[in-house]
Amino acid sequence: MNIPKTSFPRVVIVGGGFAGIMLAKNLKNQELQVVLIDKNNYHTFQPLLYQVATGGLEPDSIAFPIRKVIKDIPNFYFRLAEVSEIDTNKRKIITNIGKLKYDYLVIATGSKTNYFGNTKIEKFSMAMKSVPQSLNLRSLILENFEDALLTSNLEERNALMNFVIVGGGPTGVELAGALAEMKKGILPKDYPDLDIRQMQINIVQGGNRLLNTMSEIASEKAEDFLIHLGVNIYKNVHVVDYDGYKVDTNTDLNFEAATVIWAAGVKGATVNGLQNECIIERAERIKVDEFNKVKGYKNVFAIGDVACMSTNQYPKGHPMMAQPAIQQGKHLAYNMIAEITNKPLKPFVYKDKGAMATIGRNKAVVDLKKIRFQGVFAWFVWMFVHLFSLIGFRNRAVVFLNWVYNYIRFDRETRLIIRPFKKKP
Ligand SMILES: Cc1cc2nc3c(=O)[nH]c(=O)nc-3n(C[C@H](O)[C@H](O)[C@H](O)COP(=O)(O)OP(=O)(O)OC[C@H]3O[C@@H](n4cnc5c(N)ncnc54)[C@H](O)[C@@H]3O)c2cc1C
Repeated sequence: MNIPKTSFPRVVIVGGGFAGIMLAKNLKNQELQVVLIDKNNYHTFQPLLYQVATGGLEPDSIAFPIRKVIKDIPNFYFRLAEVSEIDTNKRKIITNIGKLKYDYLVIATGSKTNYFGNTKIEKFSMAMKSVPQSLNLRSLILENFEDALLTSNLEERNALMNFVIVGGGPTGVELAGALAEMKKGILPKDYPDLDIRQMQINIVQGGNRLLNTMSEIASEKAEDFLIHLGVNIYKNVHVVDYDGYKVDTNTDLNFEAATVIWAAGVKGATVNGLQNECIIERAERIKVDEFNKVKGYKNVFAIGDVACMSTNQYPKGHPMMAQPAIQQGKHLAYNMIAEITNKPLKPFVYKDKGAMATIGRNKAVVDLKKIRFQGVFAWFVWMFVHLFSLIGFRNRAVVFLNWVYNYIRFDRETRLIIRPFKKKP
């Protein structure tokens, strides 16, 4: 990999997401060599992927070059590579561009979509975990309307305008709100010869309420806002099959839909090579102790979504959200520096800063530690938090300008089919 050997211990971080970037940033100016590896040369701000998918933002404004994060830091290296395996005996990682030795290894590979073993749903539904997947979804949504214009078959046209979102968590709710805004403000103008009232947006939620990790009042309000926007909500229903056209559930309900968006679960993006006992079966996350050390290893750590630290308050691990990832990245940097300078380590304690979700234009729900609110003020808070969480001044400026423009003009200018999405046969 062309990384020089130095007298400093080498820390290899796999994953330049929220956790990996925060760790790298906090390790600068230490007697360490830091190598950051990611399969993409950019960091993705996943919370705004749904806006890329619905033509509200350009993909570049929610991605940030990883090389820019570590530029000018001595002893820091970035390599664009996918890690396929870890050899913990030889202290090496194995990637598509070669092998690399480590003294400390940090796995920060995040999570991937969980289809719970249903390969048919995996094949035919759309996921929204990465920039390319969001661009695929954007193309598919627009291609559906182009196709709906061309067909004289009513059933086919309805299926093309029928959107089924599986999962009523923040991703499903935010996407449904954005699609509903498109239905209201943009699609009737773009497709005046189509009856856009026929477009259906459905959320199918397995549990008995939307946003089930937030407060009950947030769930109720989110549901009210979505119903007001014309979204159909089905609770206590599980999607069990989808063949690219027909959606079957575990009840009498079924749909004919050209688009199913799977937002029903994630699992850890683990890497091969760790002992089986380290992996939690259902969520495929890596078991770590309170110092983020992988159980059974001395110099292997895991942080962020992929790590499962079971505590009294969070027996199933911390929520798979940006804040635990950011806080673990920062905390592990503190502990690594403490270890090399022979200072006592501190166990990780998660500071819950709350959760929020936006539902279309002007509406959001916010749960903070001591206060919960919903509506227009919540929407401003949501925008402010997301804007300032983005990495890079340019990205913040571009996103802000896009939002102002879209708000004033009731528009979503990036509804472009740049890279057509080909449906699987
Ligand atoms: C659509 C969506 C909306 C979300 N909205 C919110 C929200 O509103 N608020 C919130 O708090 N959280 C939200 N989340 C969750 C949040 O984005 C994650 O919890 C967070 O990104 C986890 O950070 P991480 O560093 O653990 O992983 P990630 O940010 O996923 O980063 C993992 C990195 O590892 C790299 N990688 C993975 N495998 C390999 C490999 N084998 N080799 C090399 N590189 C690899 C990936 O390319 C990626 O860059 C959302 C997630 C999604 C998908």
